[in-house]
Amino acid sequence: MSGNYVNELSVALEAVRAAAEVCQSVQASITPDVLEKKDRSPVTVADYASQAVVCRALAEAFPNDPVIGEEDSAALRQPEQAPFLERVKEELGRIGLEGSPDEICGWIDRGGHGEYSERFWTLDPIDGTKGFLRGEQYAIALALIVDGKPQLGVLGCPNLPTSEPWGGEHGCLFSAVAGEGAAMWSMEDSDAAPVMVRVSETSEPARAVMCESVESGHSSHGHSAQLAEKLGISSEPVRLDSQAKYAVVSRGEADMYLRLPTRKDYNEKIWDHAAGVLVVLEAGGTVTDLAGKPLDFTHGRELSENRGVIVTNGPLHATVLETLGAIGVS
Ligand code: AMP
Ligand code: MG
Repeated sequence: MSGNYVNELSVALEAVRAAAEVCQSVQASITPDVLEKKDRSPVTVADYASQAVVCRALAEAFPNDPVIGEEDSAALRQPEQAPFLERVKEELGRIGLEGSPDEICGWIDRGGHGEYSERFWTLDPIDGTKGFLRGEQYAIALALIVDGKPQLGVLGCPNLPTSEPWGGEHGCLFSAVAGEGAAMWSMEDSDAAPVMVRVSETSEPARAVMCESVESGHSSHGHSAQLAEKLGISSEPVRLDSQAKYAVVSRGEADMYLRLPTRKDYNEKIWDHAAGVLVVLEAGGTVTDLAGKPLDFTHGRELSENRGVIVTNGPLHATVLETLGAIGVS
């Protein structure tokens, strides 16, 4: 294989595949009873285990690279959390990863960086925790950022049906390297060759399919409905959790993904976007904030210089930004 970041891509894909295996095993254990009790323990276990798997792999391959991850082990180290730590250990054991409780916490804490640096990784061990608990969409999202720009992104989407050639059943992964396009991989068959993905060519706003968060607290459903009305879009928005939204735009199933602020004081987190942004950009799409600025990954854990995230196939971008401005979304 030739190209940039070849070693990084292979390590990242393998790590995300292993993390996905852990997440799938934990998700399979969620019973209606757990859901009814609003018991978040499965997501807690899978979140920590997933971060442990990915950070351990990165530490081994790239010991000098900092990782800005969503979790740290401070809570997990508390004596009353010992049963959780034991479950994390068990789940890691299932994929052949043996470590003492202390080692496991150490792997998790490799993801505890918060400061910007010239080269770092960012990880969301389970993006879309609500979807994970509902048995729906979630993603494992890993990106390498160099000089403030995502250079490599991998999204593992264990519940996202693949389209052809693998039929519509199993999970898939998406990868992108800056300047080299975006690809979709089978999750089930790691030997299958990837297929390149491309955004849609839809240019007539009324025909656009939009996607957004299931959770109205994460993106304003009211504002997206107003936009749809203005643009004459009659199809219902597709609602799905996690960065699977970036994935469906990248393969042309949706024409746009809108993340419209619901609160004045919320800053988007870098791990919720970095991998997805690169996948869409490399598939030919456009990603900006509401002001039309690119996302700025140079401010540590948060996208503090951006408000909202607008993802489109490209041809629709200017119209979407203008129309949101006219509605007064900012
Ligand atoms: P989604 O699955 O797209 O709805 O997004 C899940 C992500 O939303 C989580 O990883 C959180 O980091 C993030 N989140 C939490 N609160 C908010 C908020 N008020 N606005 C936008 N995103 C949020
Ligand atoms: Mg997240």
